[in-house]
Amino acid sequence: SKRDDLTARAIESVEGPGFLLTSVEKLADLGQARSLWPVTMGLACCAIEMMATGTPRFDMARFGWEVFRASPRHADVMIVSGRLSHKMAPIIRNVYDSMPEPKWVISMGACASSGGIFNNYAIVQGCDHVVPVDIYLPGCPPRPEMLINAMLELTRQIEVKPMLKHREDIARAVEAAALAA
Ligand code: SF4
Repeated sequence: SKRDDLTARAIESVEGPGFLLTSVEKLADLGQARSLWPVTMGLACCAIEMMATGTPRFDMARFGWEVFRASPRHADVMIVSGRLSHKMAPIIRNVYDSMPEPKWVISMGACASSGGIFNNYAIVQGCDHVVPVDIYLPGCPPRPEMLINAMLELTRQIEVKPMLKHREDIARAVEAAALAA
């Protein structure tokens, strides 16, 4: 029927003709989610726990996160580990802008997320005023296990989000085809 034709065409327009290429891209996304490299950057006391997370006791290397990069050009995750002063804010933004796309940000601890105990003129009241945040991690400071949990949640989001978006795109295309029929 005409309606089935329109639906099939709508799905094809979302799926695209290049099945192999799309599959390779999806595989690359999965690979990146399992091998995220944080930029080397510590702001305050939370950074001590972040460093502990990299030690053999907590072993973040198990999840493919072990390579802290000294250059933002080689990193895809920023962990804002501690209170962010107004003086540091433009530098953080500069580091963020230097990271290639796609990139993600974890706000580690109460101070990074909201200013925490530093409700004063010197501290940015939440690093999301400066960089877009994907995961907010509470605590003062969060323990390494909590940071690992945040990392795994980010990994899950990176893996799941494109699939959800893909499903939404198909649903929208099918709905539009049904209206047009
Ligand atoms: Fe320091 Fe606590 Fe603020 Fe982290 S949340 S930077 S540990 S005061």
